Amino acid sequence: MKRLAILGSTGSIGTQALEVVAANPSLFEVEILSAHSNSALLIEQARRFKPNAVVVTDESRYNEVKEALVMQQIKVFTGEAALTDVVTWDSVDVVLGAIVGFAGLSSTLAAVAAGKRVALANKETLVVAGELVMKLAAEKGATIIPVDSEHSAIFQCLVGEDMSRIEKVILTASGGPFLGRKPNYLVNVKASHALQHPNWSMGAKITIDSATLMNKGLEMIEAKWLFGLRDDQIDVIVHPQSVIHSMVQFIDGSIKAQMGLPDMKLPIQYALAWPYRIENDWKRVDFRDYAKLTFEPADYKTFRNLAIAREAMERGGNAPCVLNAANEVLVNAFLQNKVGFLEMSDMIEKTLESVPFIEHPASLEDYHNSDAEARRYALEYAKKSQLSMY
Ligand code: NAD
Ligand code: MG
Repeated sequence: MKRLAILGSTGSIGTQALEVVAANPSLFEVEILSAHSNSALLIEQARRFKPNAVVVTDESRYNEVKEALVMQQIKVFTGEAALTDVVTWDSVDVVLGAIVGFAGLSSTLAAVAAGKRVALANKETLVVAGELVMKLAAEKGATIIPVDSEHSAIFQCLVGEDMSRIEKVILTASGGPFLGRKPNYLVNVKASHALQHPNWSMGAKITIDSATLMNKGLEMIEAKWLFGLRDDQIDVIVHPQSVIHSMVQFIDGSIKAQMGLPDMKLPIQYALAWPYRIENDWKRVDFRDYAKLTFEPADYKTFRNLAIAREAMERGGNAPCVLNAANEVLVNAFLQNKVGFLEMSDMIEKTLESVPFIEHPASLEDYHNSDAEARRYALEYAKKSQLSMY
């Protein structure tokens, strides 16, 4: 029996994790649930799964949640500090980090510092401060199991392998809704269109990141830290069917792939149950349904975010943190139709040029400062958008 803290329980990953929990009541128990502002769903989840405590980080929702759960004797907390506290409780065995964006960093770090097992969906944590997080995990004996499907695939391919025998990892990308499109088309696309992902149903931010290929850029950086790779060991290939979730190539030329249908419940279940595999009755891949599995190079010229992210990864220091902050601001602006699709890359690039480079961020505070500074610049650039909606 594992007792879980599910951070971001109302999101796409969080709700799917609760489906896995509901299907395996003898294996998992919910100790903590957290959400930012979706109090209605958080209350419903708490009544159903009966956690010991819930955290609603948006303070304006605290009274509502508190009153709704008082009869159930569920503890209710608010604010980010509460989140960093509850993950350290002795009663928590596994922390699922499923908050979106930089907002997930402090709670992940707190869980790692407490030596917990962390099932990590929140890739931004590793993009921003991967070096710090992995160093702390090694020091404190914390285990990080990836939930992101590509990284779960790589993790599964590496079971029983010697890490020093990896030649490279090959991250697969679906290509998103605009695969094959060129700038003359992309210049006019709106959020409503970019939100239609062909293979995966996910939260709004990652769906836009998938359309711009920033998601794959962030995942390169995530892979670098998770698996301790050099930049030149990380390759990306477009595979529109999303059946192969990623691959590892070893020094003898042998390649292992992990496959399955595109369903996040699988990597979520794997991360929660690790090192065990548990049974389920979900739909299986039938290769007769696929006349072809196809591969093509990624278009770094059209989807410039991929090139910009690679550059930030190679530069290192606070560059990925700045990249991430600018991207969060601009994706948010794009979702509100305040900046254009292609403008996002220009503005991320300008933000990277504007924020002073720090080669060796010394502390968490340095990352917070770089994040805040990048957000200020990115917002300034967004305000100068051709759409001029501010
Ligand atoms: P989502 O937007 O659906 O859910 C986000 C969750 O985080 C919600 O529960 C929300 O209440 C909470 N949250 C948002 N802002 C917060 C804040 N400031 N403080 C505390 N909590 C906050 O997002 P998602 O699609 O579930 O993605 C979650 C993470 O998992 C992201 O980092 C994403 O990149 C990663 N991921 C998601 C998928 C997917 O299929 N959805 C796949 C791979 C990786
Ligand atoms: Mg992914």
